[in-house]
Amino acid sequence: MLRFAPSPTGDMHIGNLKVALLNYLVAKQRGEKFLLRIEDTDAKRNIEGKDKEIIELLHLFGIKSDEIIYQSHNLKFHQQLATKLLMDKKAFNCFCTPEDLENKKLKAKEEGKPFRYDGTCKNLPDSLVLDNEAPFSVRIKEPEEDITFTDIIKGKLTFEPKNIDDFVILRVDKSPTYNFACAVDDMLSDISLVIRGEDHVSNTPKQIYIRNSLGYDKNIEYAHLPVILNNEGKKMSKRDDASSVKWLLEQGFLPQAIANYLLLIGYKAPKDVFLFEEAIEWYDISKVSKSPAKFNLTQLKNINKAHINMLDSVKLASLIGFKSKEIGELAKLYTEEASTINEIKDKIDKIFSIKSSDEYKQELERFKEVVKDSPHFEEFGDFKTYLQEKTGFKGKNLFKPMRILLTGANGGPNLSDIYPHIKNYIKEIAR
Ligand code: GLU
Repeated sequence: MLRFAPSPTGDMHIGNLKVALLNYLVAKQRGEKFLLRIEDTDAKRNIEGKDKEIIELLHLFGIKSDEIIYQSHNLKFHQQLATKLLMDKKAFNCFCTPEDLENKKLKAKEEGKPFRYDGTCKNLPDSLVLDNEAPFSVRIKEPEEDITFTDIIKGKLTFEPKNIDDFVILRVDKSPTYNFACAVDDMLSDISLVIRGEDHVSNTPKQIYIRNSLGYDKNIEYAHLPVILNNEGKKMSKRDDASSVKWLLEQGFLPQAIANYLLLIGYKAPKDVFLFEEAIEWYDISKVSKSPAKFNLTQLKNINKAHINMLDSVKLASLIGFKSKEIGELAKLYTEEASTINEIKDKIDKIFSIKSSDEYKQELERFKEVVKDSPHFEEFGDFKTYLQEKTGFKGKNLFKPMRILLTGANGGPNLSDIYPHIKNYIKEIAR
């Protein structure tokens, strides 16, 4: 089983979406199940409704979960297993107060050293622990040996015990910390491979160590994806609009184009434009580049154009609020100059808008009168000749207002290419 484990604490970042897509893709490749686990144990940070939003977004991207679980529902297992570690003397109660710990952290900072737990409560005699009514957290004892694992993308990684430390697994309120809940849940769900962002690399030895301490000996594989950088070479953050999946969708990028682009960056794909289903055939997670991927909006726009052109015309028409195949085909003509659904919708709405022009006011009004009573023309040439004969306009006085009349714009695709798609709507358009 593979899994995607988002926290319902904010808008979905493109990095998270990439993680979801790749876990789903590899699950399909391996014929394994895909689990969605909402990591809601840090109650203070949860945002009401974000879980539903995540589920809807995944659905939009064609990701179907075989199972959905909420991490908080596993609380009793987290607590039982922490108790087991306590009984096995692999973990201990820590009575250090937040103030004590804060002071020690400050001191370490002043000395320019990373904070490590100093072991104050590590070896307290049972008598002092059992009768102690002071609030306590639970810490796991740091490992005695290095923890090593082989990341599918990054290769072999080794972590020294002191960098793992005696870390907290249950907080004072007995809620599990992220590392503990995650390690336990991956074990309970029989996860085979975890694909996630490289910001989690330092958590992995802790999670492996937790499971080892619990006696779980099945190896879980890991693949940590490099970060996605913005134009300035900095990690894409909330400040970059394009980092938000919601924002990209609102701009009119198609889910299939966003998915295509996210799979493409940081990977030598056999082609630039593809569908997710195709990528299942050839994507090899072990070949993901180790170096950070750079986000380029222009490239995403080009991929979006390609996916718009691949859409069924009726479907494209419906995305911009129309019903007919013709309008979908008309819309495709505009991918020369427009790259998102919103931009295309704008162009098509203009075609159906009431036209005006300061420069060609007279000509335009005359054209409108003529078209009102005109017969139907199959060919653009005949339509053009008819307008010319009826109005007597020539040269730019004919072509410029005619373009405005038919498209509501001063430029755009050739009128002769546009006409076949609008010829049945001329009376609606030329007003
Ligand atoms: N909730 C964590 C996150 O959203 C999950 C990390 C993981 O996949 O283990 O970053």
